[in-house]
Amino acid sequence: MKKLLFLFDTDAYASVFDTVVAYDGGADRVTGYAGVTPDTVGALVDGTIFTRGGKDKQNTAIFIGGGDMGKGEALLAAVKKRFFGPFKVSVMLDSNGSNTTAAAGVALLAKAKKLKGKKAVVLAGTGPVGMRAAAFLGQEGAEVTITSRTKDRAEAAAKAIETRFGVKVKGVAGADDAQRAEAVKDANIVYAAGAIGAQLLPASAWENNPNIQLLADVNAQPPLGIEGIDATDKGKERHGKLAFGALGIGGLKLKLHRACIGRLFESSDGLFDAEEIYALAKEMA
Ligand code: NAP
Repeated sequence: MKKLLFLFDTDAYASVFDTVVAYDGGADRVTGYAGVTPDTVGALVDGTIFTRGGKDKQNTAIFIGGGDMGKGEALLAAVKKRFFGPFKVSVMLDSNGSNTTAAAGVALLAKAKKLKGKKAVVLAGTGPVGMRAAAFLGQEGAEVTITSRTKDRAEAAAKAIETRFGVKVKGVAGADDAQRAEAVKDANIVYAAGAIGAQLLPASAWENNPNIQLLADVNAQPPLGIEGIDATDKGKERHGKLAFGALGIGGLKLKLHRACIGRLFESSDGLFDAEEIYALAKEMA
């Protein structure tokens, strides 16, 4: 029986990246739907739960993606609400690679050094990856601050993380290099989670800072998020700090993403969201 993955994307196009990784993770056929909302997802879910019975059902699974964490979470809630009794299939939520990328990055940091009690700053922490990274750092016992170009967005994202994960996160303004340098002044961990190709921190803001011990950056496209580290860094020592670049993190991210896709087809009631994906990342790191 063919392994069918249905990709429900909250964006205007179903993600090419998620489609490729789904095939590489073991799906035989991937069907992407774009612009899916909680109001329109019901019939799509029905198609996954009423078509195969018993053990065969585990050959059908759902992946939720898109560039908005809040929309992804709302879609997951709507999908789960549609399930009843044995009428369910395995689901993974990974809006813009949020869970897999953040989990890979934080798991590598946690393997390198103890995070508990450390001060962590997630630069541009309002996107899907940054919000999840902040949550994982908070769950590891770090004191977490996120920045945004606007304080309101930082505070709104911090509140959303707190509501979902029960960890305290502070939101501060980080509109320019000076504000972001100020935000990381006392930090021990800096996790740059900005949009692709956006530099967030000049080398002068971290190279001589004695507090900073760990640096992570998930932006792979030059200019990188953190100036002075390399995309391929994977625990590379730079100015007395350990640096992890986007490709250094990306290797584990891809392995993790593929592994989660494979596990979707091992049962019909699997859920792969932040907690499950981070636990697997720590095993794989
Ligand atoms: P995103 O939503 O596109 O952007 C994250 C945040 O960056 C936004 O919320 C925005 O925050 C800020 N931002 C946008 N443009 C900016 C600019 N010009 N200058 C400063 N800040 C800016 O990002 P995402 O989807 O969470 O992904 C985060 C990063 O991870 C991206 O670089 C993505 O390419 C990368 N990624 C890496 C991997 C990997 O394996 N390495 C996998 C997936 C994704 P405010 O508007 O609040 O300031």
